[in-house]
Amino acid sequence: MPLQELYDELNARYFEGILPPCEIVWSRRLTRAAGNIRVQTPKITLSVPLLLEAFGNGGHTVCGVWCASQEEALREILKHEMIHLWLYVQKLPHGHTREFRLKAREIGQSRTRHQIAPPPSCAPKSGWIYVCAACEARVVRRRRFGRRVACAKCCREFAGGNFDERFLLRGARVKSA
Ligand SMILES: [Zn+2]
Ligand SMILES: [Zn+2]
Repeated sequence: MPLQELYDELNARYFEGILPPCEIVWSRRLTRAAGNIRVQTPKITLSVPLLLEAFGNGGHTVCGVWCASQEEALREILKHEMIHLWLYVQKLPHGHTREFRLKAREIGQSRTRHQIAPPPSCAPKSGWIYVCAACEARVVRRRRFGRRVACAKCCREFAGGNFDERFLLRGARVKSA
């Protein structure tokens, strides 16, 4: 699911839709936490090493929730950052306050901790994220693919293992933020 759609879904489901539109970007440099937010002109930054690369060989606990995949972790991180914004919108202190923890618990998170152990190969300065147009799987690469590539999982499942245009991976250079 595209990030903005996920944001809208979570906004409606957990925050009564009161959160304003919010820019969401990926960063390779952010490694202190899996995500962070600037609330004034809302902007969420997500960590490529911690949210995408860290799930190469197993799951992690994020905000007190066991996440087996990057999709699950992404959801928890967005929820966490959105609580900060939810407090700010209501003119409340927007740190990890008592109100923050109450809301977090209400939407299924027992902890505020959202650090994820970085993968061993952490920290190239630039890179590419590829997304499958069909299943939204994300692939992280240091370098750009030199040719057109398709999603291996979808091609295996729906095209007998052959290259199929429908499952082309769309690449985007990771912004450093
Ligand atoms: Zn936080
Ligand atoms: Zn796919």
